[in-house]
Amino acid sequence: MFGNLKRLVGPNQEGLDCQDARKLSSDYLEEAVTEGNAAKIRRHIEMCKACAAFFATLKATLHLIRSLPSRQAPESLRKRFNQ
Ligand SMILES: [Zn+2]
Repeated sequence: MFGNLKRLVGPNQEGLDCQDARKLSSDYLEEAVTEGNAAKIRRHIEMCKACAAFFATLKATLHLIRSLPSRQAPESLRKRFNQ
């Protein structure tokens, strides 16, 4: 599956593969990546349905965590989210 995808995208094109995209996913959703990496991730998600689904699930999970009563969230976690 990933082999087909890579052929489609082209291994030498600038951009992330699925592994890199997922490695950066939580940082991306917390807006803790550089603008350049964020752009690469956005491009990858646009091309890759598997990662788009992965990011959507992760985003929903983070949203759920954030929507919990804030007093229950550790202070350090809230600070990261609010940056
Ligand atoms: Zn992918």
